[in-house]
Amino acid sequence: MKLTTDALIIRENNNIGEADRFVTALTRECGVIQASVRGARRVKNPNGSATQLLCYSRLSLFRGRDKYIVDDAEPLEVFFGVRGQLETLSLAQYFCELAGVLCPREEPAEDGLRLLLGALHYLSKGTRPLSLVKAVVELRLLCAAGYTPDLTVCGACGAEEVSFFSPVRGVVLCGNCRDAAALPLSAGVLAAMRHIAYAPLEKCFAFSLSDEGLAQLAYVCERFLLAQVDRGFKTLDFYHSLQ
Ligand SMILES: [Zn+2]
Repeated sequence: MKLTTDALIIRENNNIGEADRFVTALTRECGVIQASVRGARRVKNPNGSATQLLCYSRLSLFRGRDKYIVDDAEPLEVFFGVRGQLETLSLAQYFCELAGVLCPREEPAEDGLRLLLGALHYLSKGTRPLSLVKAVVELRLLCAAGYTPDLTVCGACGAEEVSFFSPVRGVVLCGNCRDAAALPLSAGVLAAMRHIAYAPLEKCFAFSLSDEGLAQLAYVCERFLLAQVDRGFKTLDFYHSLQ
């Protein structure tokens, strides 16, 4: 079966075969797929550059019994600006690793793809703080994967005045109900988290916070992510090693 889909290349592995490239792609129609690109590393192969990491391309695919083969690839956006600095590149690689874990397989992944493309756009242009982009990707990918936090009222007593967040339970808590693992949450950061989680996708990067607020937002969203997926990410460790 042959199909055409837009896809962001989120992982590439050149170590199989002599000239083949094996890629993981986040596709609009089929979610996360793995595919081989025949002869991608041969000189002059037109599919080569369009199947490199972080390239957004239109892929023509053959779907075999248990794998996909890239027949043709046309680059749509290559995000050169992301590659210019190690910090933005490492953050982009972290987003790709996250998407590989959280986005669906063999199911449409329209929202996850749009979110990552938006994030790469901002990393490329440098028009949003890195910590803001990171927090949006973490929280919004979690929401798309079914881990939407309840940010409305205290998850224990229903009080409207909340000033803590439980990364493990994914709820906000009031001062009386906070547990030892709850993280402090300022009113501005709570509003930002509500915006990220509940706003339409095209607006989720559109907010601002003080530097102090951004630091708290970044910390809370990362802790929430790590508590929910219960694993670490090498790309995240590397990003932090650059700070
Ligand atoms: Zn309470």
